[in-house]
Amino acid sequence: MDKYCVFGNPIGHSKSPDIHAAYALQTGQQLSYEKRLAPLDGFPAAVRAFVAEGGKGANVTVPFKLEAHKLCGALTMRAQAAGAVNTLLFTDDGTIGDNTDGAGLVNDIVGNAGVPITGKRVLLLGAGGAARGAVLPLLEHHPSQLTIANRTVATAEALVAQFAALSGGAALSACGYEAPRGQYDIVINATSASLQSDLPPVPAEVFGPGTLALDMMYGKEPTVFMQFAADHGAIVRDGLGMLVEQAAEAFMAWRGVRPQTTELLAQLRSKL
Ligand code: NDP
Repeated sequence: MDKYCVFGNPIGHSKSPDIHAAYALQTGQQLSYEKRLAPLDGFPAAVRAFVAEGGKGANVTVPFKLEAHKLCGALTMRAQAAGAVNTLLFTDDGTIGDNTDGAGLVNDIVGNAGVPITGKRVLLLGAGGAARGAVLPLLEHHPSQLTIANRTVATAEALVAQFAALSGGAALSACGYEAPRGQYDIVINATSASLQSDLPPVPAEVFGPGTLALDMMYGKEPTVFMQFAADHGAIVRDGLGMLVEQAAEAFMAWRGVRPQTTELLAQLRSKL
């Protein structure tokens, strides 16, 4: 049976084994998928050990996505653009790194939430790993505008410089959280602020009826960002759909079969 796992530290909370077990059952694929706690200073050794045991692929979560990027012999274009890897494929020719987080995000927005990105004003909050992975998949859907706002404006500016040649006609710009003006169609919170129940200080005017406000974080309760956006008329969504979709994209990369996600998303939602 082909072996897969997810590396992280901590890893106990991970829903990935349940998600991939459901996808394997649904698509009739024979595989095992487990959690692996890698020591903070021992990620490459943990990967080598898993490969030696015959591992075919792995997911990578906090805090190893940048290290995973470094250890790959080859990278997909979206992993290169993201500068981070969340999916490893172990082949006879070496380790290939992919990043499915951004594709998971846009598949959730377009497929699950039913909100098109093409021609829309999009505001991306944050410029860390998750935001960086989202930029190229968002641009591939040709928004009219993509504003990247971050606490450290220079990091957002560096992202704009990196992706300027790939903007595909979108007006791409960087700023601080307080600078965006007027209502946006889609506002994505890719900061880690919600982990501390913090709210990036965006003006309320960015939200309005018809705005989709998505927080990449998920949990039983809406985040402060989701509450603030809903109070100002937005439709809100958490990051659970993105999680399920990035896993589907990884499953596709490993097995060449795309699982259905709708039912699993509803099941996971009911168990939060
Ligand atoms: P990083 O640490 O790489 O980046 C954090 C970002 O948040 C930076 O832009 C940082 O700004 C900003 N930030 C941190 N604290 C605050 C604050 N108190 N107020 C405002 N801005 C703040 O994190 P990641 O990009 O890896 O992850 C971001 C979030 O996305 C996490 O909540 C993570 O759980 C979630 N995520 C969800 C996924 C899913 O499948 N649903 C997948 C991947 C991530 P600065 O540059 O100034 O430090």
